[in-house]
Amino acid sequence: MTVNELVNECPVCRRRRESESEFCSLHSRAMKNIIEAREKWCLAFGQELARPEYFERLLRLEATGTAVKDVIIYLQRKPDGGE
Ligand SMILES: [Zn+2]
Repeated sequence: MTVNELVNECPVCRRRRESESEFCSLHSRAMKNIIEAREKWCLAFGQELARPEYFERLLRLEATGTAVKDVIIYLQRKPDGGE
C-alpha cells in the first residue's frame, strides 16, 4: 500500500480522489486523455513514442490543458515516470 492510498487524496491537487482512481475526478479524466492521446499519436506516427518524449511534446503544446500538464509533471517526478 502506498502513502497515497492511505491519505485518500489526489497526489496532484490534494483534493479527495476517486475511489477507483489514483487521482481526483478532474485529474483522472486528464490521465485518461493522456493515455488515449498517446495511442492516437503512436498510430499517427506509425511507431511507438517513448513516454518521456511524449510527455515533453505534450508539455510544449499550447493546446494542452493545465490539468493534463499537472498530471504529466506529477508522472515525470515518479521514480517509474519514464515508462
Ligand atoms: Zn486532482
